[in-house]
Amino acid sequence: MATDLVSSILKTLRHRFSPVYRRVRHFGIHRHCPVCGSNVRKFLPFGDPPRPEARCPVCNSLERHRMVWAFMEPRLAKIARPAVLHVAPEPCLRANLERLPGVDYWSSSYDGAGTRIQADITRLPFEDATFDVVLCCHVLEHVLDDLGAMREFMRVLRPGGWAVLQVPLEMDRETTYEDASIVTPEERTRAFGQNDHVRIYGRDYTDRLKAAGFSVSLFSAGEIIPGDLERCVLDPHEPLFFCELPQCPPLQGTAQLAKQPCVCLNESSVV
Ligand SMILES: [Zn+2]
Repeated sequence: MATDLVSSILKTLRHRFSPVYRRVRHFGIHRHCPVCGSNVRKFLPFGDPPRPEARCPVCNSLERHRMVWAFMEPRLAKIARPAVLHVAPEPCLRANLERLPGVDYWSSSYDGAGTRIQADITRLPFEDATFDVVLCCHVLEHVLDDLGAMREFMRVLRPGGWAVLQVPLEMDRETTYEDASIVTPEERTRAFGQNDHVRIYGRDYTDRLKAAGFSVSLFSAGEIIPGDLERCVLDPHEPLFFCELPQCPPLQGTAQLAKQPCVCLNESSVV
């Protein structure tokens, strides 16, 4: 009886103080997680097949989350009271974004489960120029009209805003593979590797983002955390896609502006 009571108390304490408990339990100097700031002995296996050191034992971040946060954190710090749209929010990144000073944080998902809003990303329920930042990781490969979603992200960004739009990518594939006639889960698993994926992106993913209107810059994990790649266990093969609204063309008369529509035309200061 007494043993059960002690066990129950320990379980409650472990649950309540689980982040602290995990930080202490896994403490070490060989690995560092930029998402939760923990120093741990090693990361944990994750995936199928398992990647040996993929998951942070404290916040559950994976390689791509650590890269994305290491990239975003210094840029977010430059924005006072940022308005952020986070699609299909990863808990570890959500926790950090919600803690930003003065943030107006909107989590969004297709089914609305556990998020602030339910939304189809090809028809976002926001006015133009609402957000400073959009974060959408590993979602577009599930969306038939991915170009429509990219255009929506552009539409809801404010001038000067930016988006991080990550997808699983096969870098040895030049052209994205998709086939709208493949619709059943079994066929999609065979064709695209997962029963709810509708394509496999190739190196032309950047062209798609540009076709939507974004100005795109690619960053490697080594550029984002130089010298700390091994300690943070980042995926060196997944580039980060930094998508900005294009700069306004020079004002040279209405004829040129008509040929080069620009998001800045939404601004009342530019007529
Ligand atoms: Zn962590």
